[in-house]
Amino acid sequence: LFAKPWDFRTSVTDMANLPDIGGIEIAFAGRSNVGKSSLINALTGRNGLARTSRTPGRTQMLNFFSADDAPLAIVDMPGYGYAQAPKDLVDAWTKLVFSYLRGRPTLRRVFLLIDSRHGIKPIDTQAMGLLDKAAVTYQVVLTKSDKIKPPQLERLMEETLVALAKRPAAFPEIVATSSEKGKGLAELRAEILQLVLN
Ligand code: GDP
Repeated sequence: LFAKPWDFRTSVTDMANLPDIGGIEIAFAGRSNVGKSSLINALTGRNGLARTSRTPGRTQMLNFFSADDAPLAIVDMPGYGYAQAPKDLVDAWTKLVFSYLRGRPTLRRVFLLIDSRHGIKPIDTQAMGLLDKAAVTYQVVLTKSDKIKPPQLERLMEETLVALAKRPAAFPEIVATSSEKGKGLAELRAEILQLVLN
């Protein structure tokens, strides 16, 4: 699945233009600068596939990636929280995102990226609120795990699991990754493969 040549498919700014895909879809979400582009690039083995969330014009779009014949599309959701207060999230993260979460039957899971150095911030909690409301299963992926020491990571994982236990749509397992060191990528790919096979 991930050995295939992944490519950019389309950018979407309204629900009417969502592409027809022949399989399931997963989406990646998180604060700007969380390491979302790096993770998508590392997973697909294609540097430059996903661009940083500050690339002009691509920030408020849903970006679709696919590979020939793969029964999976990857969706890069707009990064949130860049110079925005949590209360503005719904506006800033756009109505499109919520419509998409509510109205996309092929969407199987959202991977919600959290920076290992920062943990869950208030704006992430806001995002989780939207995901819970949309009733889309989301799984937390810790990014940049190479930036903190193993005992700190261990504690962060425990704290994160406790926070997630209270959330109705949260998946009860998390994955710690480092795009830089290639850590956790096999685990995340296996998780995604399970979704495709089920
Ligand atoms: P995005 O805005 O969420 O798409 O984030 P990017 O993927 O552009 O990454 C933001 C910054 O974090 C960049 O400077 C990356 O080099 C850095 N970064 C991303 N992933 C990792 C990682 O696994 N380890 C480390 N140390 N830095 C990372």
